[in-house]
Amino acid sequence: MSVPQQLDTTRALASSDRIWEEEILPALAEYIRIPNKSQGFDAQWREHGHMERAVALVEGWCKKQPIPGLVVEVHRLAGRAPVIFMEVPGTGPDTVLLYGHLDKQPEMTGWSEGLSPWEPVRRGDRLYGRGGADDGYSAFASLAAVRLLHEQGVPHARCVVLIEAGEESGSPDLPVYIHELAARIGKPSLVVCLDSGCGNYEQLWSTTSLRGLVGGVLRVEILTEGVHSGAATGIVPSSFRILRQILSRVEDEQTGEILVKELHTEIPAARRAQIEASAETLRHEVLETFPWAPGARPLAGILVELILNRTWRPALAVTGAEGMPALANAGNVLRPFTAVKLSMRIPPRVDPHKAAQAFKQALEHDPPYGARVTFSGESGASGWDAPPLAPWLEAASDEASRAYFGKPAMSMGEGGTIPFMAMLGEKFPEAQFLITGVLGPQSNAHGPNEFLHIPMGKRLTGCVASVIAAHFRRAER
Ligand SMILES: [Zn+2]
Repeated sequence: MSVPQQLDTTRALASSDRIWEEEILPALAEYIRIPNKSQGFDAQWREHGHMERAVALVEGWCKKQPIPGLVVEVHRLAGRAPVIFMEVPGTGPDTVLLYGHLDKQPEMTGWSEGLSPWEPVRRGDRLYGRGGADDGYSAFASLAAVRLLHEQGVPHARCVVLIEAGEESGSPDLPVYIHELAARIGKPSLVVCLDSGCGNYEQLWSTTSLRGLVGGVLRVEILTEGVHSGAATGIVPSSFRILRQILSRVEDEQTGEILVKELHTEIPAARRAQIEASAETLRHEVLETFPWAPGARPLAGILVELILNRTWRPALAVTGAEGMPALANAGNVLRPFTAVKLSMRIPPRVDPHKAAQAFKQALEHDPPYGARVTFSGESGASGWDAPPLAPWLEAASDEASRAYFGKPAMSMGEGGTIPFMAMLGEKFPEAQFLITGVLGPQSNAHGPNEFLHIPMGKRLTGCVASVIAAHFRRAER
């Protein structure tokens, strides 16, 4: 009997559609209801038990999958977020590593009428709710892809699926687990990551680079307690103005350009060329999918420069503040301190430790008026730049995209951060990467109205199955 080497993609898509409708979407709906915020956003995550509930849900779903030889284990090291480790035996010595995460960002405000972070709502192609697209679907879709291969008896390499619970906090616990599981993980020659984005919902997108992240809290203290603003202004400098001054050291407030040279890198010519080639396809995603206020517009610059800004240049967001009462409680007081949380994305190839040091130094040195200025940094995360794409993967991605979407595959750099990719890239320099995901136009992960584009999820699952089949065939060639 001959063994088929290639998936019947029509059959695979029909099966993916069925698995999504009957098994994945009901589980995802249940998953969305669990407020399992990442440890960085919920100091009492252990006591609350939400993370364990989410792990139990995913573990239970995965264990039920009709995949021969499937092993599903939950690993728990003391004081650390758990990790789900799964293994599917394969043909031959090779390994494919599939990665995703099940911790979530906090709620954020601004959800539209009828939508909520913790209550799933399906409208048309979209399943709304926190963490469905980022990245709750990844465990389900990874195993569904393997299942598509099994249904058709198509051979594949051994598959390891790793689902962590700390990605949104910078994956602080993952290196320890990777060390512990090193022998079990083996040496993957293909890494599939389903935690990334797509430029539209019409084709397969692979991510060629990610930015890193340096973050922390900047605090400016000028008094030990608040005082009457009528008595103090003109004598006591405002902590807010000092903070503005300090921020202007690191960011040009007119252009948004980051002024600390250690946070920049030289943009590789090949990446610039790739962005020039895909910019027009991304025009809509870059310019029109943000929820602009009436009359508001993006930073100055042509489209290609905006995409380079997002992928290969540092940029700052101020994500939270303390020391300021809510507006309703704001009396005429000169406040004693102002603190803000800074989130600085850094380009690939920039060392996050050196970047964090330079950033801290720029913020803290020579404080105006002798104010107490501190920057308490979090552990930074590296960006990532894909190794050269192997011809087999390029061909397989394109074939898969044409088969499941009817359009060629596309690639792009992402402005977000997936710390694990940099760790893997360092550890397995020979590995190829298919980094992709469902975070496309308006999907708004981390913000309000996050949704998962359901047809994208179904087709992407098929693409992953076909690429894993091609990965096996490449060894045969
Ligand atoms: Zn994510």
